[in-house]
Amino acid sequence: MENTVRAAVLSGDATRPDIVEVELAPPGHGEVEVIISAAGVCGSDLHVARHDWDVPKPVVMGHEGAGVVSAIGPGVTSLKPGDHVVLSWVPSCGNCRQCLRGRPWQCELAASVVAVGGVLFDGTSRWHRHGETLHHYLGVSSFAERVVVPETGAIRIREDAPLDLVTIVGCAVATGVGAVQNTAKVEAGATVAVIGAGGVGLSVIQGARLAQASRIVAVDSNPMKFDVARRLGATDTLDSSSVPDPAAALRAIVPEGLDYVFDAVGLTQTTELAIAALGLGGAAVIVGLPPQGTHASFDPLALAEANQRILGSNYGSVDPHRDIPRLVDLHMEGRLDLEAMVSGRRPLEEAASALDDLEQGRALRTLLVMDAPGTSGANG
Ligand SMILES: [Zn+2]
Ligand SMILES: [Zn+2]
Repeated sequence: MENTVRAAVLSGDATRPDIVEVELAPPGHGEVEVIISAAGVCGSDLHVARHDWDVPKPVVMGHEGAGVVSAIGPGVTSLKPGDHVVLSWVPSCGNCRQCLRGRPWQCELAASVVAVGGVLFDGTSRWHRHGETLHHYLGVSSFAERVVVPETGAIRIREDAPLDLVTIVGCAVATGVGAVQNTAKVEAGATVAVIGAGGVGLSVIQGARLAQASRIVAVDSNPMKFDVARRLGATDTLDSSSVPDPAAALRAIVPEGLDYVFDAVGLTQTTELAIAALGLGGAAVIVGLPPQGTHASFDPLALAEANQRILGSNYGSVDPHRDIPRLVDLHMEGRLDLEAMVSGRRPLEEAASALDDLEQGRALRTLLVMDAPGTSGANG
């Protein structure tokens, strides 16, 4: 028997979702149903709303969420109703070559079926409306009161963790801290710059602080973000809109060039800046995702002579079952500040306004809190 739930649905010709009632089928084999407590609004959601990427539509939006398991489908053994979970946007099949290599964040079936098809692992959707099939987004679709996800896309966490805040561990924090710890393996004493001080960039800054980097330079075109960046560990800041040559300005801060530069924005110019600002043996880490079809250039001779590297980091190279509970623990131990990254809480009805805030640089992370009584918009 299908549930009727409110959800944010983006149709093929719209740039903002409508909040409508949709039908959600019960969990199938190897799937679980989760009542969403809160969903985070991420830069990738803006790419979806701008149609920068080929995402099957209509789609129930959202890929960052946390909540409580409310039902389990046949064959589910690792979760039970009542479990608290953070959702992962790369569920893993456990059987493909990448899963068998111990790289669940590169699961081939999650990429080829779930992400590309907008469906669950069996190739079908649980979402319908007036007889029409709607698509899942990355197997999560957290901008909804209730969702059905693959069992491996719901990561059980400790029950004393605040279910609204830990939502952002599912994308921003996993992506940012994971890029530092798993992809780049930043060592103590290293010098780091982070381009973009939004949800992912601030998570990179926190990861660099946890790694005991000696310098952490926050680069952003909006200096309003620097207070939070400093509180989370940035030692230096650079307003890239105030200088003609940001690479030269970075070199003025760290004259020998940087050991690691993280591009948490994903634009041609930010990727090129990340490479240009490297010192000897440095690594540029591409974390922010660009629109489809863009290109960046670099000087390969300089790269080779300086033993530099360019690293792609998708989802922070995290093993969700290993890393998400660990990141929640770090928060509960007071070592990872999640509240500082949340700039506002809004009800689901205001999903479109939350996207506006993000697009116009007024928000860090906005949480869409299900059944929230009041409104609290962006404040920086
Ligand atoms: Zn995201
Ligand atoms: Zn797999």
